[in-house]
Amino acid sequence: MPSPKRVPIFDGHNDALLRLYWRGSSDPVASFLHGEDKGQLDLPKARKGGFAGGLFAIFVPSREKKSAADPATAPNLSGNPEPPGVDMAEAQRAVSAMASLLYRIERQARGRLRICRTVDDIEACLDKNVVAAVLHIEGAEAIDPKFEMLDVLHAAGLRSLGPVWSRPNAFGHGVPFRCPSSPDTGPGLTDLGKALVGACNRLKILIDLSHLNERGFWDVAELSDAPLVATHSNAHAISPHSRNLTDQQLAAIRKSGGFVGVNFAVSFLRPDGGREKNTPLALIVDHIRHLIDHVGEDGVGFGSDFDGALMPEELGNAAGLQKLVEALRRREYSEKLIEKLCFRNWLRVLRRTWK
Ligand code: ZN
Repeated sequence: MPSPKRVPIFDGHNDALLRLYWRGSSDPVASFLHGEDKGQLDLPKARKGGFAGGLFAIFVPSREKKSAADPATAPNLSGNPEPPGVDMAEAQRAVSAMASLLYRIERQARGRLRICRTVDDIEACLDKNVVAAVLHIEGAEAIDPKFEMLDVLHAAGLRSLGPVWSRPNAFGHGVPFRCPSSPDTGPGLTDLGKALVGACNRLKILIDLSHLNERGFWDVAELSDAPLVATHSNAHAISPHSRNLTDQQLAAIRKSGGFVGVNFAVSFLRPDGGREKNTPLALIVDHIRHLIDHVGEDGVGFGSDFDGALMPEELGNAAGLQKLVEALRRREYSEKLIEKLCFRNWLRVLRRTWK
């Protein structure tokens, strides 16, 4: 019997740059290119699992590194306080360090990874089996109130931005990690946050809704002229976590022609929100089914959170991505729909956003 066809996967969120940034003194670029035991995404794992590319996040850690700010270890107990904020100079230092890591990876990858600025760039990478990296920032602390840094970062390749991570900043209030909890946890965007939406629309930078609380979500929904996109969030109806999206939010995303990338973090998959690696891969497919029911077949894809979260053991890391394709086949999804989920829907919404 011929082995089943591999499907390339374009993915909405990974924190590989943060992992490499925290590696400190040893050679982080080489460890990405050559691969290593630890970590969930590097070039060999990407090749093995058919990870064709995705949004590479720059996340500025809160001051106490690897404490509450580490998305991999952030507790999700009810009442978890918001992590401390970061100031602009500190954020700008971290952003340039992590962006530089990606540029160096691109330079040293000798054609195996490209930073993409258009959907045509991504498609060219898919054709040639080159990893397509899109520069994303999670939390806009590095952006000044006149948006001058936003111009600079856009020119440097930034194509996607989350106004907040799960902490307050000058632009709004992120949603804290709580389960069970409604995403309606506090005030929405500030006036500056609302202005940032306009600036991103003008520059055609995708606005990521994933770490906004519910009021911030509705602020973006009202103001933005782009499709609504949550790059790495799940269905609140299945996992009642503050980071997940209610059916009402999903309906708004559908109406805008938007998109949701399913997050593989066990805490956002499980009905009990637990950090339990013994979580079935099939639960990812349950979220996909719910999201398709509410957003439509053209509005759902992946947003793994590799290197930012605890994954189901059955999936492991990026090398295991084709297991997810197999899980979709077991539910008798058509090959056409599987391709949409794996990359076509991402390309569609990016094309509409970056038009
Ligand atoms: Zn995140």
